Amino acid sequence: MPADQSNLRLFEQWMDRVACPACHGTLRLEDGLVLCASCGRGYPIVDGIPILIAERGALRESK
Ligand SMILES: [Zn+2]
Repeated sequence: MPADQSNLRLFEQWMDRVACPACHGTLRLEDGLVLCASCGRGYPIVDGIPILIAERGALRESK
């Protein structure tokens, strides 16, 4: 867990410079996912590594 936490902190700093691979929108961390504010895709974080691949980004259903 501590390793994941520190990876996520690093990623939060890095996230200012990366964009959603699908739509180039702004990304943010939420609920253990990397969410795109523009298209609503949620990218998984596997072993502390965000998987920013358009095909892996699941569109979030509104519930
Ligand atoms: Zn997007």
